[in-house]
Amino acid sequence: MMWRQHPVVCQEAVELMSDYIDGTLSSKNRRRLEKHLAVCGPCQTYLAQMRLTIAASGSIGPDDIEPTALADLVDVFRHYRGDASHEE
Ligand SMILES: [Zn+2]
Repeated sequence: MMWRQHPVVCQEAVELMSDYIDGTLSSKNRRRLEKHLAVCGPCQTYLAQMRLTIAASGSIGPDDIEPTALADLVDVFRHYRGDASHEE
């Protein structure tokens, strides 16, 4: 699948999502995230799940995301965690 070729980008996108939902994300990072979301189905799903979780509970945590639908994506994140180089 295409998205497996850019797991670091996906991890960065996920890290930006909570601020994106809060509306505190910088315009630069918001553009990066929206550009990624436009081409990445798994991250769209993740963002939708995160929004639903926040709507239901009023807060968000790493354990609040429903893991079932995201198993493949989470597995990629776990595999690449620590190897991510953050470009600023
Ligand atoms: Zn992605």
